[in-house]
Amino acid sequence: MEQLIVAVFLVLFTLEFLIELLLNELNLRHVRARWSERKIPAYFDGKISPDEYEKSVEYTLAKGRFARWGEIYGRCIALVVLFSGLLGWLDQFAASIAAQFSLHSYGQAIIFCLSVGMVFSIAGLPTSFYSTFGLEAKFGFNKTSISLFIADKIKGVILAVVIGVPFLLVILWLMDTTGRYWWVWAFCFIVGFQLLMIVIFPTFIAPWFNKFEPLKEGELRKGILALADQVGFKTSGIYAMDGSKRSAHSNAYFTGIGKTKRIVLFDTLIDQMTIDQGLAVLAHEMGHYKMKHIRRMLIVQTVFLLIGLYVLSLLLNYPPLFSAFGLNPSHHAALVLFSLLFGPATFYLGPFMNLLSRRHEYEADRFAAQTLRDGKPMEEALVNLTVKNLANLTPHPWYSAYHYSHPTPSERIDAIRQCGV
Ligand SMILES: [Zn+2]
Repeated sequence: MEQLIVAVFLVLFTLEFLIELLLNELNLRHVRARWSERKIPAYFDGKISPDEYEKSVEYTLAKGRFARWGEIYGRCIALVVLFSGLLGWLDQFAASIAAQFSLHSYGQAIIFCLSVGMVFSIAGLPTSFYSTFGLEAKFGFNKTSISLFIADKIKGVILAVVIGVPFLLVILWLMDTTGRYWWVWAFCFIVGFQLLMIVIFPTFIAPWFNKFEPLKEGELRKGILALADQVGFKTSGIYAMDGSKRSAHSNAYFTGIGKTKRIVLFDTLIDQMTIDQGLAVLAHEMGHYKMKHIRRMLIVQTVFLLIGLYVLSLLLNYPPLFSAFGLNPSHHAALVLFSLLFGPATFYLGPFMNLLSRRHEYEADRFAAQTLRDGKPMEEALVNLTVKNLANLTPHPWYSAYHYSHPTPSERIDAIRQCGV
């Protein structure tokens, strides 16, 4: 039985790997072919200089090459962790530490889960470092210093321990004490936990990484407030965030729920956009709220979570799954195995989630155009964001269909023009 489990896993794992590689290569070829013909979407004519276009092609190609090697490296790490006996060794190591310090059985579980997490974090350091200081720096996007990079990683570890350990303890306790339907209890707990995180993230966690200042008085602020008023969007504040301390890439987002929603604008976005373009971006974001996209996405994810937990509850009583990867059956081993093996399942769900997300983007664009009674600012904002971020102007259609949570800028501009405002 163990061999069959390993075989099925390897088939899915390899298939996922080949699809990733193939799509990436197709995309790179496509971009190179368009570049050799200098064929860019008509909307960018006159909006992007030949130099900027060349730079965006080079950036896309460099990211694609990096993705190729990163993919191969990541796959090798996953195989080593799963098949070298490392998991079994770490479990025994955790058991011996727990015995030595006469810890509760949850002590072993926590040490095991943390050490597996640590293996992946350390293995991910080289790619994270190169991405920041090699790739992003080469194209002028990186603003992170080495000390900030290290501080971020340390804060990440502290958060993982402070938030992750209590979370894990509650899950393990529910698995132990609530009987057959523990997964229903765990589901309720996780949903509650996620809601709590949405509330505490903007006020307690995000300020640890960035500075947030109320957006200063002026035309932009006035415009945003008027816009929020017009569409009936309740907000507890508009903030500017020092995104420029890490990267020149720009962004805007909303956090929180109910009346405590905050609007956050990266300082880079404020610098790079005209007031009209900035307002179009915000009208788009408000569209997501108004049309309940965020709630809908959360519900879809919640359904997946429930199914996932149910599957986990079935696997829990299936010893060959544990022995296939060199582990003894236990609740903590099940949690770790599940998180490692679940990758292929979520991978195949990804394109469907992206399809739904792209539909939402079209709707939010239309909302922005209709709210402003003009599609031009949204269109200009899209062109501006694409050029400033050196985004790929000509992705391969399969690649974008598979990976993009947003339609390509040309697709979005087409749709905005069709909505007739
Ligand atoms: Zn959007």
